[in-house]
Amino acid sequence: MNILRKRIGVLGGGQLGRMLIEESLRLNLNFNILDPDAGCPCNLLADTFICGSLTDASKINELALVSDVLTFEIEHVNTAALLALEEQGKTIIPSPRILQMIQDKGLQKQFYEQHQIPGSRFVLVNDKSEWAAAVKKLESEKFVAKTRKDGYDGKGVAILNSAGIINGSANIPFDEPCVLEEFIPCEKELAIIIARDAKGNILAYPAVEMEFDAVANLVTFLVSPARIDNYLAAKAEMIARKVVESFDGIGIFAVEMFLSKAGDIFVNEVAPRPHNSGHHTIEACYTSQYEQLVRILLELPLGSTEMLQPAGMINLLGPAGFSGAYQFDNLEMISNMPGIFIHLYAKNESRPMRKMGHVSIMAPTLEEVVEKAAFVKKHLVIIPM
Ligand code: ADP
Repeated sequence: MNILRKRIGVLGGGQLGRMLIEESLRLNLNFNILDPDAGCPCNLLADTFICGSLTDASKINELALVSDVLTFEIEHVNTAALLALEEQGKTIIPSPRILQMIQDKGLQKQFYEQHQIPGSRFVLVNDKSEWAAAVKKLESEKFVAKTRKDGYDGKGVAILNSAGIINGSANIPFDEPCVLEEFIPCEKELAIIIARDAKGNILAYPAVEMEFDAVANLVTFLVSPARIDNYLAAKAEMIARKVVESFDGIGIFAVEMFLSKAGDIFVNEVAPRPHNSGHHTIEACYTSQYEQLVRILLELPLGSTEMLQPAGMINLLGPAGFSGAYQFDNLEMISNMPGIFIHLYAKNESRPMRKMGHVSIMAPTLEEVVEKAAFVKKHLVIIPM
């Protein structure tokens, strides 16, 4: 296939789209972006920028008209419009059929159950009136409530004590269709990125170990390879591969998992796109998750997922209590350190916990990665302009 100036259309113009474009410039590709925000991170890099809602079918069709293949960098898009385009023969990777299932956390949980993929026990509820009975059925001291639709980065997720719900003394936070699931006491949260092409070739990136901000529920820091023994790493990889094969998925999939204190692995959820847990692959792997997606979109062979060195990643988040024009404190000092790769997302203003950039860190050992990461986290901070 002649890939020269092949036109890739992306729904969403955030940082994931931006890194997808950055990694593809050297392949001389043409990127078209649809996003509602004219100031989004992709705008200045896109060949064609269509300003419009990701739920507006006419805008999605407009993007399709100028693109040979479509993909998305965010899940909250009009899946019906994509399904209609797919029916008409448009290539959309991953298939909107998978996106439709993943958009609904209830359907996602049921899918894993049907395919014998390990996950936490769960009960589905339609509204508040069904909570007490459902929580009783879970028989776990703590549980996690998740709205079935439109949650992201911890929004629409609440960790609650069962007793208060059962005896009616605690507030019920959501009055809409939800998944209620047992709380898994976690040793570590892991993610494995899987790449699968149209021929069914499949490769896994080394497992990543993630640390979350407990308040904002965002990834703040990760290291790869995860500090787990070989047996657990192989088991996690086997489960992640099985998930994507069960989807019959083509594209890049981030499989988020819990390693419980009891040593079991549970699948939490899957993102059918490049993911925050794979930013470090830009520098730390032979083929980044972004280049890998481009290869899949263009029907090129998958690239090696092997790591060049142990790596870490820190999200640069907007500080609490401040919105507006910003700058980075100590940027010069941090830029001077070897093995540090700073990525800035070109967002016009900082907002509390907004992802403004990230730093990837590489070193000969994980201990050095962790040490450097702590230094970067402490000093490279966002301050008002
Ligand atoms: P989101 O789609 O917003 O990322 P998740 O389902 O990933 O929501 O949940 C956000 C976070 O909440 C997880 O990363 C994890 O820290 C915690 N969490 C979610 N489900 C459970 C569970 N069953 N047991 C323990 N912690 C959980």
